[in-house]
Amino acid sequence: MSKKLSVLSDRCPQNHPCPSVIVCPYGALRQSGFKAPKVDYDKCVSCGKCVRFCPKRALVLAEA
Ligand code: SF4
Repeated sequence: MSKKLSVLSDRCPQNHPCPSVIVCPYGALRQSGFKAPKVDYDKCVSCGKCVRFCPKRALVLAEA
């Protein structure tokens, strides 16, 4: 089974630079302004590293 990363934008306060964007080793997260980050699914390998860095738990890995 594969997992897919989701961004739960209602959990993201969208008022600061997303700390998870810079921890992704694959450059798969992008943030426009202070909006909730977007996932580039061509780059994301579902490693879960970013999930651990979001203090609001707005990034979730779940079975696809
Ligand atoms: S799950 Fe891994 S590869 Fe995907 S965005 Fe998060 S840190 Fe990057």
